[in-house]
Amino acid sequence: MGAKVIDGKAFAADVRARVAAHVARLKEEQGIVPGLAVVLVGEDPASKVYVRNKHASTIEVGMASFEHRLPAETGEAELLALIDKLNGDPAVHGILVQLPLPGHLNSELVINRIDPAKDVDGFHISNVGLLGTGQKSMVPCTPLGCLMMLRDHHGKLAGLNAVVVGRSNIVGKPMAQLLLGDSCTVTIAHSRTQDLAEVCRRADILVAAVGRPEMITGDMVKPGATVIDVGINRIERDGKAKLVGDVHYDSAAAVAGAITPVPGGVGPMTIACLLANTLTACCRANGLPEPE
Ligand code: NDP
Repeated sequence: MGAKVIDGKAFAADVRARVAAHVARLKEEQGIVPGLAVVLVGEDPASKVYVRNKHASTIEVGMASFEHRLPAETGEAELLALIDKLNGDPAVHGILVQLPLPGHLNSELVINRIDPAKDVDGFHISNVGLLGTGQKSMVPCTPLGCLMMLRDHHGKLAGLNAVVVGRSNIVGKPMAQLLLGDSCTVTIAHSRTQDLAEVCRRADILVAAVGRPEMITGDMVKPGATVIDVGINRIERDGKAKLVGDVHYDSAAAVAGAITPVPGGVGPMTIACLLANTLTACCRANGLPEPE
């Protein structure tokens, strides 16, 4: 029997609809419009697409979208001054600086300049520390989306063996923290892990965030496991451009109990969670109850 396909697209549409309903209530009852500012420096084609999608989704749920497109040669002082301005702007509840930044800019310095309360990407060192110590924080959107899908599928995650392949600051590490927070037994694997296949086969929950097309194959999946594929890799196959994950879908789906597809799995959840985080930041800024 094949795996259940976890439909991230439908799940994300549901999250966006709930955010939109809450935004409408905020407007009507409080006269408050949540606002998201997105800063893009340079001309990276993938980043431009992401920023365009974020803008459209923000407008769609009734929030205000503030786009700041700066030339690739923008200096650090100028970028920091913009962030200071956004930090002080009461109409802006969330700030996102699209990564990667051009090489001459120090990403850590820039991200850590964002007011942690407006850091809807959850990358500020304060939010990283709060998440790591189990305190209320802004949670990075991609792992948050993965967690929501896992909770929805499993109910309780406590006691399950989770293996996260990848230890980046934006996906792997926060994903592991979130799973630990839900009382999974967590293993983080990376490029120096020995016998990766054997480590992966122990997983009831296997999260692939590697950045290598179709690297996780069916023989690495425990029968019945839930496989979350974070990877977005553009490859060429049979002369055509194609988007594939870090998981070899067909072989993994033949063994897994549930699996997220690429596209249509984790990707749409990331933007939905960005909107949810912006709404949360807005509610916190106004001393209002947070969304469920
Ligand atoms: P990074 O390149 O920052 O990290 C990749 C991680 O994978 C590293 O920890 C690396 O280990 C590990 N790794 C690399 N090769 C191997 C290997 N052969 N065996 C085991 N581990 C390995 O990537 P990101 O975390 O930023 O992204 C991961 C993937 O997720 C990418 O495909 C990216 O496009 C996608 N992504 C998708 C998002 C979405 O919205 N769906 C959002 C963000 C990312 P080491 O640390 O030892 O080098």
